[in-house]
Amino acid sequence: MIAENLAAVRRNIEAAKARRTLTPKEAGVLLVAVTKNHPVAAMREAVAAGVRDVGENRVQEALQKQAEMGAEEVCWHLIGHLQTNKARQAVQHFQLIHSVDTEHLAGALDKEAGKIGKVQDILVQVNLAKEESKSGFFREELQGALEYIDALPGLRIRGLMCMAPAYEDVEECRPLFREMYGIYRQIQEMEWRAANIEYLSMGMTHDYEIAVEEGSNIVRVGTAIFGPREY
Ligand SMILES: *Cc1c(COP(=O)(O)O)cnc(C)c1O
Repeated sequence: MIAENLAAVRRNIEAAKARRTLTPKEAGVLLVAVTKNHPVAAMREAVAAGVRDVGENRVQEALQKQAEMGAEEVCWHLIGHLQTNKARQAVQHFQLIHSVDTEHLAGALDKEAGKIGKVQDILVQVNLAKEESKSGFFREELQGALEYIDALPGLRIRGLMCMAPAYEDVEECRPLFREMYGIYRQIQEMEWRAANIEYLSMGMTHDYEIAVEEGSNIVRVGTAIFGPREY
């Protein structure tokens, strides 16, 4: 079932790329399979079907899975809100942290990265719709935050991440995704110390096709691959 679901998601991504109008059709999309709340067995099935990138939102759960299946086979993405006291483990165990949402957290990650001689790749999370339930920088805070984080030697900004509100009509996400793509392109043109702006991480099960149409190049998809999560 997981292999079939994956094939369907991949087909949908390709179809969405072909429907792009304002963004380059050929630009690739990285599929991050979101395995949170699913067992290692499901992750193994996905890996057997070609998944090379997995997303987890809790450090503890990811560490358990890495211990069980080995960390080497896949690239680990941390996609959920991160507590500062987990910064050390996050830096030790994830290749890309999507959810850098405060300067305080960036500072903690920088410090821990420095201790182990790593330059940690991160995405800066944007809360474009200013939802109270979500974290991330507001649009007007973003430039200052990017400048602050870019100056930290232990971190390298690789792009932006956002989550759209759970609109009833998924089409309502489109203007927001379009605006995100514009911001992404804008910061890509700026001069940075170390930042290398390559990624725009947006799109989940209910909205990834629209996100891809609007220029997303990382989608984080869980339910459409693994089915509903049991909490
Ligand atoms: C859980 C989660 C996803 C995946 O959600 P689905 O709706 O299951 O695809 C993507 N991004 C983040 C930040 C998440 O926490």
